[in-house]
Amino acid sequence: MTILERRATASPPGGPLIDSFGRAISYLRVSVTDRCDFRCVYCMSEDMTFLPKKDLLSLEELDRLIGAFAKLGTRRVRLTGGEPLVRRNVMSLFETLGSRIAAGELDEVTLTTNGSQLARFADQLYGSGVRRINVSLDTLKPDRFTRITRWGDINQVLAGIDAALVAGLKVKINTVALKDFNEDEFDDLIRFAHGRGMDLSLIEAMPLGENIGDRTDQYLPLSQVRERLEREWTLEETDYRTGGPARYLRVAESGGRLGLITPMTHNFCSTCNRVRVTCTGTLYMCLGKDDCADLRGPLRASDGDGDVIAAIREAMTRKPKGHDFVIERFTTAPAVSRHMSVTGG
Ligand code: SAM
Ligand code: SF4
Repeated sequence: MTILERRATASPPGGPLIDSFGRAISYLRVSVTDRCDFRCVYCMSEDMTFLPKKDLLSLEELDRLIGAFAKLGTRRVRLTGGEPLVRRNVMSLFETLGSRIAAGELDEVTLTTNGSQLARFADQLYGSGVRRINVSLDTLKPDRFTRITRWGDINQVLAGIDAALVAGLKVKINTVALKDFNEDEFDDLIRFAHGRGMDLSLIEAMPLGENIGDRTDQYLPLSQVRERLEREWTLEETDYRTGGPARYLRVAESGGRLGLITPMTHNFCSTCNRVRVTCTGTLYMCLGKDDCADLRGPLRASDGDGDVIAAIREAMTRKPKGHDFVIERFTTAPAVSRHMSVTGG
């Protein structure tokens, strides 16, 4: 059976998910836990309160929910968090999703991780069908790493990255650009990533979550970073896109790819193909908006997928044309009160 034939048979009556602005939704991010073994200062407060475990969808329910999205045309799924690899038994979810890839229901399952547990899980991830992962790393300096994560050990993460590469996983490094913190390290991070065959993406800090301090302290526009990088490197435009807010450049000297993720300064909403689900089964149609839909109720209401599919379709009619982040609002008040660790990065 060809991929097109498979897609046709996978589509339920009513067709695939298209929102009110004609955008086909084919990409799903799932936060599998809000917990984490780090407390990155821009992401969580030190004394973060986590959700009661009873509120979480079980791994079986998460798989069912992803299966419902697959029936509606989702082809790519990224598991994120919190830290996905600290959820107990999470490898069983990767295994069942791997079976969905083998069955032609999904094209790809990827992971965003802080890397702390990668040395343990890299081989199993590859074995379950994962081929690409993103590892977050904001600095190469051990003392800075401990400061930004509040207690993390960079050696654990570096060992995790090595293990992932040895296992055959393609790794992209994600670095949040933070004013007065890692501004002097972007050249080294390019050398580090590209020297190991990894892409690097720089991310603008976003105003998400309450009680995390003054955002104006952290915000560093990537337009400024790009200007500085261009003194050292030749940055060539490419048309490589992943349907998200990243614009990719090729660094001529290293031959590697550099992504600039600029939700604050660059409008990417018109090509947005994604939605997000939290570990409690709440569907967010836009990272920058509070509007959401409960999928846990319909999921638990019956063993069939009819209710949950109807709820997803209804929610999609509410996917907004664009989001609310504007620089003027990048003040002490967050644009969206939930933390990135709840919605998933
Ligand atoms: N724990 C995993 C990790 O760190 O990769 C996955 C979840 S984390 C929330 C996903 C990504 O979101 C990370 O790359 C992190 O740096 C980024 N992130 C968290 N809070 C952010 C914020 N306020 N602005 C921009 N990026 C943020
Ligand atoms: Fe944890 Fe990732 Fe948030 Fe850091 S960015 S606190 S690693 S969820």
